[in-house]
Amino acid sequence: MRLQLQSSKINKVRFHFIMVACLLVSLCVGMLPARAAESGEAQAAGQAVQDVYQQLQAGKRLRPESTYVTPEQPTVYLTFDDGPSKLTNQVLDILDKEDVKATFFVLGEQAKSHPNELKRIVKDGHAIGNHTYNHVYKELYSDFQTFWMQISRTEDMIDDIVGIRPQLVRAPGGTATNFDANYYYLMEQAGYIVHDWNVDSGDSKRANVPVNEIWQTVKASPLEHEINILFHDGTGHDSSVEVLPKVISYYKQLGYAFAPLTDKVKPKQFSITKPKWSRTMSLKHFQDLLGQTQAYATAHPSAAEIARREAEQLLAQKAKAEAEEKAIAKQKAEAEAARQAALPLQVHVQGGGTFSIESSHYQLQANRIELPLRYLIEKMGGSVEWQPDTRSAVAHYGIYDMDYDLTNRSIHLFTLGRPVASYYLADMTMQNSQIIVPLRKTIDLLGGRVTDAVMDANSREVSLALRPFFYWKENNSLVPTTLFAMGY
Ligand SMILES: [Zn+2]
Repeated sequence: MRLQLQSSKINKVRFHFIMVACLLVSLCVGMLPARAAESGEAQAAGQAVQDVYQQLQAGKRLRPESTYVTPEQPTVYLTFDDGPSKLTNQVLDILDKEDVKATFFVLGEQAKSHPNELKRIVKDGHAIGNHTYNHVYKELYSDFQTFWMQISRTEDMIDDIVGIRPQLVRAPGGTATNFDANYYYLMEQAGYIVHDWNVDSGDSKRANVPVNEIWQTVKASPLEHEINILFHDGTGHDSSVEVLPKVISYYKQLGYAFAPLTDKVKPKQFSITKPKWSRTMSLKHFQDLLGQTQAYATAHPSAAEIARREAEQLLAQKAKAEAEEKAIAKQKAEAEAARQAALPLQVHVQGGGTFSIESSHYQLQANRIELPLRYLIEKMGGSVEWQPDTRSAVAHYGIYDMDYDLTNRSIHLFTLGRPVASYYLADMTMQNSQIIVPLRKTIDLLGGRVTDAVMDANSREVSLALRPFFYWKENNSLVPTTLFAMGY
């Protein structure tokens, strides 16, 4: 199958929904005191309808977007108008014998008087279209309201007899000089597909057209890829029945397939010409008709519309399920992050003990541990003094004194009161009146090192090897001792 994307009914129906939504919004807002919003929304909705109305008045054809499928094989759509009648059974016999399917655009009053023929059309697998109730041009084309009433009445009749509401419609006499842009638009808003034809068998040019004349007309007609050929199975069309086997055989020999019309077949439609009827359409009348046709479309969605709604519903359900899954995953991740953030840091000192730093006292920044200087030093058994005049902190730790100069972000290291080194520590920050330092660099300064670190989902552990302390002995020789002597 060659897919031919034309457009879709979808947007048309969406347009309804937008219009209805606008109206609903304006109604709801109307209940609130905000009068300005009410008039704004209502004006927007009203303006959209007015724009459509004006374009239609100017004769512009506003087509719905639809998706049609072009068949691979050249195809003939046999169509029979004005039945069913006594002749219909003969037509059905021929179609049966030739094994081809066709479309019957039936009149409501004929369906009423020939219900069995109508039932057989459906039973034999042919398509049913709506051809209005009584075919009286003057009634049908004096005002869309009458046309619409006849379509509805016929549809109810067909529905009563065979349980089908035909989506396909053929205008009696064809749309040329009968339809205008309003007729097309309103029919399409109701969800119908209007079919004219591209081959006229000429079987209704006048009463009792001879068989040979019909045959010559058909043979002389152009051979398009898709042929929608007009025949009649109403009373008095015996010639049409007679010529039918010859016509079918002719197209078969040319390689044509036969098919009933469906909502996937792109309709043959005449272009709009000036109607031969004198009609007027006020904005108010248009709004009224639009309301009726759109309400009909909502109440009687087409098969395509039902499929579209179901697909939309499925998508919405899928999106909802995905959103729920995402929310659950996010919650889990957050809970896990919170749990991990609450893990204490275990500090193992080589050859010594282990102490623990609660989660509130350290931060893990990209695997780097930061913690308050005072807390660290005190945990290690040292002490810290804050000297506000110089904005510096002096940490005393064993034989070391470390002067943390916050202004210059530098550290001066003293051993037994003697300056031994200065370091620049860019990572030093002040948070909540505390000097925050990186653990690894601070341990390095103290002459120790981090020998191992485990930062995973379930544990935060670092192992430290600290340099032995050095004591000056009276003979100026250095004697090592260790931090562990201090109780860790
Ligand atoms: Zn007709």
